[in-house]
Amino acid sequence: MTLIDPSTGERLRVGKVLCIGRNYARHAVEMGSTVPKRPVVFLKPSTAIVRTQGTVVLPEMTSNVHHEVELVAVIGPGGRSIREAEGLDHVAAYAVGLDMTARDLQSEAKKKGKPWSVAKGFDTFAPLGPLIHANEVADPQALTLSLKVNGTVRQHGHTGDMIFTVASLISYCSRIFTLEPGDLLYTGTPEGVGPVMPGDRLEAGCTGLPPLTVKVV
Ligand code: MG
Repeated sequence: MTLIDPSTGERLRVGKVLCIGRNYARHAVEMGSTVPKRPVVFLKPSTAIVRTQGTVVLPEMTSNVHHEVELVAVIGPGGRSIREAEGLDHVAAYAVGLDMTARDLQSEAKKKGKPWSVAKGFDTFAPLGPLIHANEVADPQALTLSLKVNGTVRQHGHTGDMIFTVASLISYCSRIFTLEPGDLLYTGTPEGVGPVMPGDRLEAGCTGLPPLTVKVV
């Protein structure tokens, strides 16, 4: 899986797909979860990525797949133990993305203390919109996120409501994982998550970013 870095025009091989759970207080509440004191981090495989105009395939193993619209930061310069003040210097591009979640499998995993990898990692469970150069986003904490299902708005949020900012997430994650060019960071979803059905058309948007459209089958 490769992406074109909009700043250099070069191909970036997608590396780790880092995802943040419960990064908006009202989403934590709707999930019956507490608001975390530290970022909740999980990973998806790069094979979960599907680009705009693509298709999300509902797996047989689940009967309840939810949409979660999220701002995605694409890492350019890598590093480790990055200071929060320099966090955004490591972002090459932004995109809007969807963290598709098999909610039934995730709920079962949570109850049993098992990992979320299966609930989050199926093929096509990480739709990713077109990239725009990071310089075109003056402040990643000042963006409106939205998700429409078949033209009806289901999620509407603001990145200013993130519990942990993009810069602080990059700093935090880089203290665990060495960040490399082409790593992706899905920064969490605002409230309003809900199920998708075969035939649904999902349109994810974020201020100033090209939209992401996928069909569900
Ligand atoms: Mg999410």
